[in-house]
Amino acid sequence: MDRQKLLAVLVTHLPDVRWLCGFTGSNAALVALRSAKGLKLHLFTDGRYTAQADTEVQGARVRIAKKNALAEALLLVTSGPASRCGFDATSTTVQTLHAMNQVLLDPSLTSPRSAAFLKPTQELVANLRQVKDPQEIDALRRAAALGCTLYEGMLGFIETGMRERDVAAELEHRARLAGAEAMSFETIVAGGVRSAMSHARATDAVLKPGTLLTMDFGVVLDGYCSDMTRTVFLAADPNVRSSPAKRERLACQRHVFDTVLQAQEAAVASVRAGLAAGAVDNAARSVLKSFGLAKTFTHSTGHGLGLEIHEGPRIGANGTATLQAGMTVTIEPGAYLPGEFGVRIEDTVLVTSAGCEILTPAYKGWVEL
Ligand code: ZN
Ligand code: ZN
Repeated sequence: MDRQKLLAVLVTHLPDVRWLCGFTGSNAALVALRSAKGLKLHLFTDGRYTAQADTEVQGARVRIAKKNALAEALLLVTSGPASRCGFDATSTTVQTLHAMNQVLLDPSLTSPRSAAFLKPTQELVANLRQVKDPQEIDALRRAAALGCTLYEGMLGFIETGMRERDVAAELEHRARLAGAEAMSFETIVAGGVRSAMSHARATDAVLKPGTLLTMDFGVVLDGYCSDMTRTVFLAADPNVRSSPAKRERLACQRHVFDTVLQAQEAAVASVRAGLAAGAVDNAARSVLKSFGLAKTFTHSTGHGLGLEIHEGPRIGANGTATLQAGMTVTIEPGAYLPGEFGVRIEDTVLVTSAGCEILTPAYKGWVEL
């Protein structure tokens, strides 16, 4: 059945609910009903959120459920003409689906429905969310700018001898004081050999001179996430250049850094509306390949972001999604040499018809602290 013909869609993924009507509570089921008169949205939540829903919700009728918001949302659908109801298969658990079917099959209903009433759909709302409107772009721009300010401030704080955890704690503390509602994800601070792990969490490991330090973090402002990565060199101790072996090691770190930077800049330069995501990934990957580092780049080049830190489109090898003006995506190639070190450089960019605008313009070249 063509999804266009669905007369009813049930939305339970909270970021989708927020995007559709502004509600930020933790319990919500939104029903979108299509009729000749147009599309009507009904938001079901519970009594804890009566006042909050009142102030937040726009464009949807608020209904406070007596018992179960999801069940009452489904009952509204069954009372109308819809023969099927779409739901998001990617964010609905098996347990929730079972509970939904229990409601529909209840013999005490005027017209019980079969399990086939629920029609799985793939990221119906998530796909709409990929292209941002001006208000969303403004929030993303402010979040990204705050991330840059925080990063620049941290350059004056970081010293060898600190633990990764100290750096993460200071960064997060400063973020909250500056107005961030939360961090977009668990802050990554990875020094020395740990920088070779692309998603290392901040630990008690101590920052040592002569090593690289990767910081990957984001803040949330007005619900929208920022995301950026910078890699810096810890050079405070003059010993880092004291022997031929150390100088050779530094030259190797610098070479990998410069290559990743070149790959990142090539990918950013390639971005424009109409291009396939895979072509952007290829722009980064081919630079790393030309320097023999293809195998050290073990993840995709980037991802969309907005109300969630990972949204579509995925910027990966063979990605077929077409970039559109108004999408916000990250460009974050890296090179990871296990047991030695790693480098990642990440910007968030806004796709435009002519190219892109970098929302995270903090300096990304070689920095020695
Ligand atoms: Zn990141
Ligand atoms: Zn990212």
